[in-house]
Amino acid sequence: MTTKQEYRILLYYKFVNIPDPEQFTAEHLQYCKDLGVKGRILIASEGINGTLSGTVEQTEKYMNDLKANPLFSDIVFKIDESEGHAFKKMFVRHKKELVTFRYEEPLDPNVIGGKRLSPEEFHELLQQDDVIVLDGRNSYEYEIGHFRGAIRPDVESFREFPEWIRNNMSQFKDKKILTYCTGGIRCEKLTGFMIKEGFQDVAQLEGGIVTYGKDPKVKGHLWDGKCYVFDERISVPINRTEEDVVIAKCIHCGKTHDRYINCANPTCNKQHVCCEECEEIHQSFCSDECRDVIMAAKTN
Ligand SMILES: [Zn+2]
Ligand SMILES: [Zn+2]
Repeated sequence: MTTKQEYRILLYYKFVNIPDPEQFTAEHLQYCKDLGVKGRILIASEGINGTLSGTVEQTEKYMNDLKANPLFSDIVFKIDESEGHAFKKMFVRHKKELVTFRYEEPLDPNVIGGKRLSPEEFHELLQQDDVIVLDGRNSYEYEIGHFRGAIRPDVESFREFPEWIRNNMSQFKDKKILTYCTGGIRCEKLTGFMIKEGFQDVAQLEGGIVTYGKDPKVKGHLWDGKCYVFDERISVPINRTEEDVVIAKCIHCGKTHDRYINCANPTCNKQHVCCEECEEIHQSFCSDECRDVIMAAKTN
């Protein structure tokens, strides 16, 4: 019997002025619920950013309907096959910004931003000595996978980037900088910010890591580990060449492994790298403290 891949996961964004974002949010939520898709969609006056799962028919209809709206006629969807839903619920939320970024001035990617690189162009530049590669994601995303030689930003959320860059990157202002993130949206803000801060030569990976991983020519080459994703899969493979490298380590035994699980103590719930054996031995707890808390609660 073959596995039927009848579900899909969509990832997409578009920066475009949405005239009445609050009304659009309410209508879009109702539309998504009626359609039966699940996921997380953010809507702001500056555009839309979404990821959702559904059957092939549902996702096909969603893409066609969204493109039928003149605001989104040229929106790009990244499509993954899936064996089921990758989300439990449907959220459509109105936000002030599509990606929260602590910066004083507005950043419109349609006005200011780094040069956009195709996966092939990015791959080519990655192999040059004189480029600085900056990971545009959080450190816990970097931990389980990143481009070879990329700088690891010591941030726990995207809004920390402006301060982190001012404190750690200023010596690179005249260098060629490449940035990348999961699907490309964070780089849209990050490169605009860096240009405003005086960085001379900033370029971003168009479509992000997931697009890079699907490119038939580069096949994810020079990506080590897995790519963290914000759905129930937690991570996906990118490098489809022979040299698929695992870089993260099990927090219990130190063996290289690239799977995140959540701590079984609900008040901790910490995401940690854990191998299969240790998951069984430690019963999915991230630490002895967390296990003791739950065991004590059970025996009381
Ligand atoms: Zn282990
Ligand atoms: Zn824990």
